[in-house]
Amino acid sequence: MAKYIFVTGGVMSGIGKGVIAASIGKILQVRGLKVTAAKVDPYLNYDAGTMNPYIHGEVFVTEDGGETDMDIGTYERFLDINVPKSHNITTGQIYSSVIERERRGDFLGKCVQIIPHITDEIKGRLRNIAREDAGVVIVEIGGTVGDIESLPYLEAARQFRFDEGIGNVVNVHVTLVPMLDVVGEQKTKPTQHSVQELRRIGVQPDVIVARSKVPLKPEPRKKIALFCNVEESAVFTSQDIASIYESPLLLDEQGLGSYMVNRLQLSSKEPEWSPWKKMIKTHLGPENQVTIAVCGKYAELADCYVSVNEALRDAGATLNAKVDLEFIETDDFETDPSRVRVLSGFDGLLVPGGFGSRGSEGKIRAIEYARTHNIPFLGICFGFQLAVVEYARSLGMMDAASSELTSDSKNYVIDLMPEQNSVLEKGGTMRLGAHEISIDTESIAYSLYQKTKAWERHRHRYEVNPKYIPQLTSKGLRFSGKSDASRRMEILELPSNTFHFATQYHAEFKSRPGRPSPPYMGLVKSSLSKNLKLEPKQVMTRQ
Ligand code: GLN
Repeated sequence: MAKYIFVTGGVMSGIGKGVIAASIGKILQVRGLKVTAAKVDPYLNYDAGTMNPYIHGEVFVTEDGGETDMDIGTYERFLDINVPKSHNITTGQIYSSVIERERRGDFLGKCVQIIPHITDEIKGRLRNIAREDAGVVIVEIGGTVGDIESLPYLEAARQFRFDEGIGNVVNVHVTLVPMLDVVGEQKTKPTQHSVQELRRIGVQPDVIVARSKVPLKPEPRKKIALFCNVEESAVFTSQDIASIYESPLLLDEQGLGSYMVNRLQLSSKEPEWSPWKKMIKTHLGPENQVTIAVCGKYAELADCYVSVNEALRDAGATLNAKVDLEFIETDDFETDPSRVRVLSGFDGLLVPGGFGSRGSEGKIRAIEYARTHNIPFLGICFGFQLAVVEYARSLGMMDAASSELTSDSKNYVIDLMPEQNSVLEKGGTMRLGAHEISIDTESIAYSLYQKTKAWERHRHRYEVNPKYIPQLTSKGLRFSGKSDASRRMEILELPSNTFHFATQYHAEFKSRPGRPSPPYMGLVKSSLSKNLKLEPKQVMTRQ
């Protein structure tokens, strides 16, 4: 019988509900239980693919090509599992399948309603998840209690307890306990209100996780228990910590693990935290430091690049280095090209994925600067495409361009893929998900991956135009990774530089703490020691 843990949020958004949900999963996973996680997003979009990362955070791409909420990435990193796209449920998906069934006549003349039809569809999807991955399913409900949009999901959660039995469903409510600066008093009123709202809908939380700057003091803990109708031993704190990966340990130390095991009558073994603790150690207090410039469009908001950020951090932790990122707007390099010299103060440059022309010429300038000044460079997707454009221009093809960006070039070295003949329809129309990359043995790529085949995740419409490959590779540039029977160029490297490397895929989506992504390792390693040159030949003997 599957067990379900619903995680709802109160008081306000952005308090780290995703990390708490993932932490609960981890706490059970280290006890030998099979755990998976799902995110319910109450918005009407079908998926996160069409959403602006600036408002909603990064679009996380799953192995099976889903464009999902960034919390799915958090689950993957914490639980070290691939989460399929069916685990990111949105109101858009729920309604479209109910309406589709109504059009087919499946409801036999009945009036189709939110209760029971929408709620049944929600419950059905959650049960399907449990079926494919029996064990414990953590269900995080997006948004904050009190939102109109999340009502059907909370109603589904309420019904779930009846359907599945009280011993099989736990409700966790994550709230914020603010502190009055002057007196340092922890205020529980917002939590009380939030729980009142939840109970009005019919959901009684079993567990409260209070987000707070410092651990909850005994008095406010008692108050929360009393007013929210929760056992005192089921009130936990998640205080501010140095690394998010400490969060499961922190909650387990307070007894969350044993609470869940007892409450859900799970047969589990003693928790085995040592590999996780070892990983955290590498994340805390590294001895070296590098600063990487990240040229992205959404420079001000780190949430847009969570996976890139984490991939750099994973690589840094493995190499005993703290990776500081500085986000740089490239528009400046267009108005005043001399400004690109700021890059000389960095240990490395990363140009991440992106869309549209704003700042793209500036990014090309940044890549040129890195190439000609031998600054370690990693280009991801859009960054890969712009590296191709920049290199083509360096060969004298001055109007080299991507057809995504201009309409007046004769040399589109980056062009739409043949099957992508329409860019008018935006949702789910890109080349998505994991594809197999074949890696040349005598290459930097191989020295990083140490294997000739790798599965990496994609999200793009444009690619290297095969027509230009002979010209592009005539002066040293190499495409050392390819896919689709060598039809598509996936990895670019310039062996004459310390590290000038780019990938058409987004390697960051597969980086995990303790198991960093090879291209990110390459960037951090070469940034740590700009003199250290990765030699393709070194690795030849391994095959
Ligand atoms: N805009 C480019 C394309 O569609 C790159 C996309 C990306 O960086 N994810 O191909």
